Amino acid sequence: MKVLLISTYELGRQPFAVGLAAALIEGRGGEARCLDLSVDTLDDEEVQTADAIALWLPMFTATRIALAALPRIRQLNPEARLGAWGLYAPLNATALREHGVEFLGAAECEHYLAGFLMGQTGSPEEATAVALDRMEFEVPDRAGLPALDRYARLRMPDGTERVVGSTEATRGCKHVCRHCPVVPVYKGRFHVVPADIVMADVDQQVSAGAQHITFGDPDFFNGPGHARAVVEALHARHPGLSYDVTVKVEHLLAQRELLPVLQRTGCTLITSAVEALDERTLSFLDKGHSRADFVTAVELCRDNGLNLQPTFVAFTPWTTLESYADMLRTLGELDLVGNVSPIQLAIRLLIPRGSWLLDVPEVSDLVDDFDEALLGYPWKHPRPEMDALQREIEALVDADARADRHRSQTFEAIWDLASRYARRHAPGDARLHELPPLPARATIPYPSQSRGTAERSPPRSSWLCFESSSRLGVTLLAAPQLTPF
Ligand code: SF4
Repeated sequence: MKVLLISTYELGRQPFAVGLAAALIEGRGGEARCLDLSVDTLDDEEVQTADAIALWLPMFTATRIALAALPRIRQLNPEARLGAWGLYAPLNATALREHGVEFLGAAECEHYLAGFLMGQTGSPEEATAVALDRMEFEVPDRAGLPALDRYARLRMPDGTERVVGSTEATRGCKHVCRHCPVVPVYKGRFHVVPADIVMADVDQQVSAGAQHITFGDPDFFNGPGHARAVVEALHARHPGLSYDVTVKVEHLLAQRELLPVLQRTGCTLITSAVEALDERTLSFLDKGHSRADFVTAVELCRDNGLNLQPTFVAFTPWTTLESYADMLRTLGELDLVGNVSPIQLAIRLLIPRGSWLLDVPEVSDLVDDFDEALLGYPWKHPRPEMDALQREIEALVDADARADRHRSQTFEAIWDLASRYARRHAPGDARLHELPPLPARATIPYPSQSRGTAERSPPRSSWLCFESSSRLGVTLLAAPQLTPF
């Protein structure tokens, strides 16, 4: 039984879940083959000769690419059993079923997935498996995935680059931020991946050339004791290895005693989904932190020699010219311009199916009917100039990314654009018309592009950044065209 596992996109990383599914299929006596459309084109022969095919859908962009690829996959192989798994699979069941996808799984569903693909299970109940019980993990089998040096690298401030591997120490999240796609699936639960599995996965990637590990956990501090054990073990086994993690502001404050541990064990970057700096938006998103908490988190990271990379949902229905300018001004004052990927300043809230934001009357009253093409509920800002500003900033960021401009140059251009809008639409507020003094042009480590189809497909240059926080629910937007198939 030959099973083809297809990853379409996971932030330029080699996907943990695909390696895990491959290991489980091999364990059941199958032959697992892997394709990653973020670095390779669709291999017709692999598709034609597969008995079963599954697509990994951890995020919005991956789903868009998969839906575009499915007609071609079906045309090449009308007989194969089709499955999809990941946060966005059950949420987009209607669209996926229209393409003949039978299995729709999420959370700890890989055992069910493997059984379905191998033809060993397949009852209607098992074919939609949002599995929230603890599962038996295996060490991911990454042998069939593209080499690590074909994925995004970590670009260091001195211009050198590190080959990046990735793993997961936990899955799911114990929090329920309303805009987050983890929430409709995990509903406030998370699971620990045993430390010995994590270490074995790190070991095999170091052997394959990894110089840096990205922990893909939605929040690395959901299990602080486990997090500490994992990074201590990682550093003891691989003292020269660096790593990065995602931690929410609330946890940075509550677990501040762990920050020196991260610094000592090689953490080069902490991504934190700040999302907004105005209290009203933070309250609608139910983020569990305030603007003051964010400022404290910046100070704590700085005091501990850690690089904080905040991410934002810059445009929501509650964003105003004042709040947007305040966000820019605050980033300048906190000397964070070099820490923020410019695309973060263009991201517009997307409301996917199942979003807990729809429980908020201010949101449900605002959205139109679900749009299958958008994979979300369309909304318009009550002030049309805010939607126009978002579109212009998105275009500006994309153009600057193609030109490889420095983050601070793009930041200045964004401020100029926002100031022009303010002069036109808020002429009485002079504070919005002035550029704050920009700090030194320091830049923290950040991911480069993958070395696959991205190089042949220029529009993806900015795409790789678009979902830089979207495992956490941030989503965009316009749909750039990508045709790796
Ligand atoms: S945004 Fe982060 S902290 Fe909030 S529910 Fe999602 S993963 Fe958890």
